[in-house]
Amino acid sequence: ELLDLSLVGRAGAVGLEDATRDPASPAVLTFGEIDARADATARLLAARGFVAGDRLAFFLPNRLELLDLFLACVRLGVIAVPMNALYREREVAHLVADSAPKVVVTTADRAAYLPAGTPWWDVATLAAEAAAHADPGRRLVVPMDGEAIAALVYTSGTTGKAKGAMLTRNNLAANAAVLTTCWQITAADRYLAVLPLFHVHGLANGVHCWLASGCRMRLEERFDAARAADVLRAFRPTLVFGVPAVYVRLLELDDATAREVGAAARLFVSGSAPLPAHVHAAFEARYGQRILERYGMSETLMTIGNPYAGERRAGSVGFPFPGTAVRILDASGEPAAEGETGELWVKGPTVCAGYWNRPDATEAAFAGGWFRTGDLGARGADGYVTLRGRGSDLIISSGFNVYPREIEDVLLELPGVREAVVVGAPHARKGEVPLAYVVADDPFDGDALRAACAASLASFKVPVDVVRVDALPRTALGKVQKHLLPAWAGAAAE
Ligand code: ATP
Ligand code: MG
Repeated sequence: ELLDLSLVGRAGAVGLEDATRDPASPAVLTFGEIDARADATARLLAARGFVAGDRLAFFLPNRLELLDLFLACVRLGVIAVPMNALYREREVAHLVADSAPKVVVTTADRAAYLPAGTPWWDVATLAAEAAAHADPGRRLVVPMDGEAIAALVYTSGTTGKAKGAMLTRNNLAANAAVLTTCWQITAADRYLAVLPLFHVHGLANGVHCWLASGCRMRLEERFDAARAADVLRAFRPTLVFGVPAVYVRLLELDDATAREVGAAARLFVSGSAPLPAHVHAAFEARYGQRILERYGMSETLMTIGNPYAGERRAGSVGFPFPGTAVRILDASGEPAAEGETGELWVKGPTVCAGYWNRPDATEAAFAGGWFRTGDLGARGADGYVTLRGRGSDLIISSGFNVYPREIEDVLLELPGVREAVVVGAPHARKGEVPLAYVVADDPFDGDALRAACAASLASFKVPVDVVRVDALPRTALGKVQKHLLPAWAGAAAE
């Protein structure tokens, strides 16, 4: 059992600093203690009738009990269903109806968002109840097939209703093995966990690399920009997994902190959304570290990443991870030429078994063993893959393909532009035209921004309008929800 190896082998070593309860003085746990908690929790679940294949949902922010529950599920073959802790009635109702969990473990205030009649347990009493089932000295392990489903991880719902990716035990094991090897993660590392554990970035990458390497993890409830400097200085991580929004906030820390933190660190990884090239450059200038950007999805885990040793190229996601094959296919299904944009198809040991309850979506996504990501990208002569955005965001204007990401990248380099997104607006003659929304500093001059775009882009790519908004609609992980934009900006203007 991959997840148990380091726990057992390093029983006496400190595995966790839990800062979710008392951020000022984190509780310190050895791997042996974590193992014992997981075992007691597994016994509690078994005593309450859980058997392999049952679903157990957790609707929790990052906290120790979430780890207890996940590890207990792994031990029993119970399917873990992480739910976004920020979800409310509508989203919660969808996940609960879709995954049909035997029970949802949550906090008393969040329980109010569960559909009436949903069985739930209060996380506040869980640890005490589990402790009553502890059986020190014995380990409960149910032998399990690698192809059994370990977790249903719901996609972020950036483009529509969230779908449950059925991740097998082997998917998670392969992902952890590849990342710990490629990123040279060892027991000597100190990993700062600030990402939510209900998504693959925090769970499949973070928790699993931690356990596979046996390193020390400091678990934070979330990334808190106001406390970031203190946390970084106190913990001195060697390894940080972040989303672009995290790195943008880290640029705001003072020079001395940046230098000190950068000197203690070994690797900063970014993913989940595009990392702007100027953030990559500014981070290197301040922290002396080149961020490693990688690409992955709930459905495929990590498939493409920049090299650990070798050029970590800004704006690129690098090469397929070992074991993963990547094809880039044009609209007619033929391999795209060098540098030409097409849809990314991936195949490998980390690709999920399909979507829970969604044979239609599974059928549409898989073709002859390949998974169609729906993302667009191009591969250069030197093999580096560059993402060009989601296929569903592609704008077709007068028959030309317009990739919003290209225009967004140009806008983001212009003075005063903090955030930029481009969507297709309906146009009677051209079908669609690009329309930009920006968060920008004063003084704002949309026409000047359009003129600047015209200086570096073909005319059909120049936004018809640049609309200023106070903020962009984003998911919990900071991804822009483009489909909400026109209505959202309209509502904000009223
Ligand atoms: P949904 O599928 O429900 O619409 P989602 O696609 O945002 O939501 P996730 O599985 O969490 O759900 O995210 C995967 C997507 O994130 C990828 O398909 C890709 O579009 C985007 N992504 C991941 N890494 C990167 C990256 N480095 N650069 C740009 N986009 C990225
Ligand atoms: Mg998706």
